[in-house]
Amino acid sequence: MTLDLSLRTVTLPFRDPFRIARSHGNDGATTVLAELRSSLRPDLVALGEGYPDAFYGETPATMRAVSPVLLDAVAPLEATLVDGPLDDARAALTEAGERMADVIRWNGAAKCLLDIALHDLAGLAHATAVVDLLGLSRDTPPTDFTLGLDAPHVVAARARRAARFPALKIKVGGAADLATLEAVRRVYGGPIRVDANTAWKPDEAVALLPELERLGVELIEQPFPAERLDQLAWLQERSALPIVADESAVTIRDLGQLAGRIAGVNVKLAKCGGVGPARLMLLEARRLGLRTFLGCMEETQVGIAASAAVASLAEWVDLDGSLLLADDPFSGLVLDDACRWQPSGRPGLGVERGQPSPSQPPFDAAGR
Ligand SMILES: [Mg+2]
Repeated sequence: MTLDLSLRTVTLPFRDPFRIARSHGNDGATTVLAELRSSLRPDLVALGEGYPDAFYGETPATMRAVSPVLLDAVAPLEATLVDGPLDDARAALTEAGERMADVIRWNGAAKCLLDIALHDLAGLAHATAVVDLLGLSRDTPPTDFTLGLDAPHVVAARARRAARFPALKIKVGGAADLATLEAVRRVYGGPIRVDANTAWKPDEAVALLPELERLGVELIEQPFPAERLDQLAWLQERSALPIVADESAVTIRDLGQLAGRIAGVNVKLAKCGGVGPARLMLLEARRLGLRTFLGCMEETQVGIAASAAVASLAEWVDLDGSLLLADDPFSGLVLDDACRWQPSGRPGLGVERGQPSPSQPPFDAAGR
């Protein structure tokens, strides 16, 4: 009885240049893909993905370094995951997340990669979609679409192209935030979510508040540095708009100090450790009265399908990573007319290697 995990690091070009306030480069999305095999079911190949973000201290090398430790921690669960009754397999998936959290404190992307692969493996072995394995609803909020920092007219042109999305997330923290939001508002009528990725100063943020309200901004994500919970709370006291923590809300352990001080949190599988930890973090956030945003990094459909399986637990959804890529190497997940992700109907994640069908363009016909 053996679990075999193989990792592959890939750099995938973006559809459009994608820059955020604290990003270092813009060469594409570097993500780590995994294949997981169980000697109990050699016919199955499960897929995993973890997106290493240097901001959280992870690189492909650190993921590779800790993966054997994580694999050892979950190995005793193999038979239950693959051969056990469905309820036992479901419980073993939760336990896998706990075992990984016990053995290593951080390294969310490395845990995420293995956790996703374990969910895919259990789903494949039980001929059950991951969302059904978790007992969660397929009725999910639609995803928004994110536009990176750029000149206002460039961002506005991209906003026009993304008109089918029911909300846009606009990266701010650049030189022309207000001009960018004004330009987007002229061409796009839906809600706008702004994400400063820690780059704003308190005085400039508070001065912008009336403008943001006037422009129909729906929420403000992570205006200040991750450790400045005092500043986040200070702005929330002055803001009718919800302040949502992303960089300040890495794992479930961060929720307690945010509850009651700001409106919401952005939960991401690659930060908190995968499907199981994200499910628990979303439930705990709701229990604490925090509004929930389910986000992503720039993952392929492997990571997005895993995220979509828990999307029914979130109020807002930003699962557009695979849509930001010029060519996602995986397909199967389908964006419906309302921009909700729908699983393929196949077991596990329902994702396989191959290009998306040209009949399912992510953008309007006028776009790319
Ligand atoms: Mg963010």
